[in-house]
Amino acid sequence: MDTRQLTLGNEAIARGLLENGCAVATSYPGTPASEILASVAALQRKYGLTLHTQWAVNEKIAFEIAYAAAISGLRASVSMKQVGLNVASDPLMSAAYMGTKGGFVVVSADDPGPHSSQTEQDSRLMAMMAKIPVLDPDSPAQAREMTALAYELSEAFNIPVMLRPTTRVCHSRQDIDAKEILPRPSVPDFEKDPTRWAATPKFRYQLHKELEEKLAQIAAYEQTAPIRLNPDAGGGKAIVVSGVAAAHAKDILRDLGLWADMPLWQVRQPWPLHTDFTAHLLADYDEILVIEETVGVIEMQLADRNKVRGKQDHTVPRVGELHPETVQEIIARFAGVPFEKTELPAVPGRRPTLCAGCPHRASFYAIRKAAPKGIYTSDIGCYTLGLNLGAVDTVLCMGAAISQGAGFYHAYKHQEKRPDVVATMGDSTFFHAGIPALIDTVVQKVKFVLVILDNRTTAMTGSQPTPTTGLGATGEPLNTVDIEALVRGCGVEYCKTGNPYDIKEFITLMREAVAYSREHGPAVVISRYPCLLDRRQKENQAPPVTVAVNDDCDGCGYCIKHFECPALVMDEAAEKVHVDAMLCSGCGVCVHVCPKHCIEEVKPA
Ligand code: SF4
Ligand code: SF4
Repeated sequence: MDTRQLTLGNEAIARGLLENGCAVATSYPGTPASEILASVAALQRKYGLTLHTQWAVNEKIAFEIAYAAAISGLRASVSMKQVGLNVASDPLMSAAYMGTKGGFVVVSADDPGPHSSQTEQDSRLMAMMAKIPVLDPDSPAQAREMTALAYELSEAFNIPVMLRPTTRVCHSRQDIDAKEILPRPSVPDFEKDPTRWAATPKFRYQLHKELEEKLAQIAAYEQTAPIRLNPDAGGGKAIVVSGVAAAHAKDILRDLGLWADMPLWQVRQPWPLHTDFTAHLLADYDEILVIEETVGVIEMQLADRNKVRGKQDHTVPRVGELHPETVQEIIARFAGVPFEKTELPAVPGRRPTLCAGCPHRASFYAIRKAAPKGIYTSDIGCYTLGLNLGAVDTVLCMGAAISQGAGFYHAYKHQEKRPDVVATMGDSTFFHAGIPALIDTVVQKVKFVLVILDNRTTAMTGSQPTPTTGLGATGEPLNTVDIEALVRGCGVEYCKTGNPYDIKEFITLMREAVAYSREHGPAVVISRYPCLLDRRQKENQAPPVTVAVNDDCDGCGYCIKHFECPALVMDEAAEKVHVDAMLCSGCGVCVHVCPKHCIEEVKPA
């Protein structure tokens, strides 16, 4: 029975996948896509569905697992964020050539803004490069509907289909029609055909020709053609929108009183743009405004610079999210109607910081003590915030902390004075992209220290499991991987584990590792303490202690500057620091941070 439900965009996508018979769903977590697989797993448990859900160690592996299911005839999906698609780009390009059998939906969630990403890159360009169709939903409800459309399109042409929601679609809530999810038996049937599934370059040429033919047909596929949202509107100027810009434009045209005067076209499939639509648009209108996030993918397919307004002529900003206020201004100027400019309130930003009592803070503090003049390479995760503590100098992409650390070593190795290099990355990132880079440092005898910040979870994206957690996507028990054995297996001779909460011992360990690396080569320290926010690990955390600042504190601010625990607050009136008991997690590390011993553990009376 259908019901109306207030649903998060990512939950709506998960529903769409399962309502349409997805039998294998994989992912690597990354904002704004993380809740898609988590929601698939929740629905799987709720309805007792037989399907395989998996957090893979990276996006490439997630893609390849789901793709194998798709070429076995099952409906499959892989979800990730836009930068994750870079990691999966290798199999994506080949999968486009080889095609699919069962429907295959590749969800790549974009982050215009960006809110929590290294780049604002537009996945639709990756779809263009891979030569697969891409659908661009404007809302949670449309995202759910488009999963059905994506499966149909994928099976109609035996091709992977990309669904590209943006942050606003993934993380907004909307009332949607939720259909009942019924268990669907699906039987895999992989037909061996090495000329297709293991094609040599000669056959790949043939596959490329077939792919071009498919794309020409997809550009005429009626079901994904652009929609005229206001069929009664006339006039010589038209607006073309896709994604979230479509949702904004619908409201704004009404607000500006232009609904009946300005034809509004929503493009659901920005690539390949429908050939008939392109021809009619250019023939029927004198001026066309294209509004889309983030790159002008539609606009570049409407190659008429005299008629088309958009990102090329800077009518539409090329950088950042398209907020409703921005879209309103663009449309009003295009239509030549007066509008009231809305000034967005300047919200004072709070500097992001690690949680009070986060074990990473103690690790960074120890790293600074052990290698005060070092170069600190780091990676993608909560620990990127170590930059506030002066312990992160570079962040490039997943796994690059190790390879950049190696690069700095090679850059300086012929100098008389060579800085210590300390790289930091989390356990999830180490599994994701760190291992090949670590092997390279062993072979090249790179003198550096790698600190693996092992909090036994993927904390930044919402505590998804890592290969050390021993749990799967639905909470089912799984095997674990021993990081120490893995590091040693890579050929690293110095590998020691410490608890960053035992800060004195941990600083000693870090000093030893730095000294070892100066002489011998790579040293790995595993800094192990469970994430404070991961409820599954409560029993592995030490009981909290109570701390207080005594009257000898002179307000020098050393603890705040060098340790930056949010629970340590400067009392400007009293000119001393105090502990905010509401924020303090009771880790006790700050007791060892104050050089004047003014922070003390308060023993229970
Ligand atoms: S607690 Fe110690 S380090 Fe912090 S302000 Fe007071 S004296 Fe300085
Ligand atoms: S014990 Fe100290 S370092 Fe730990 S959370 Fe409380 S104030 Fe912060």
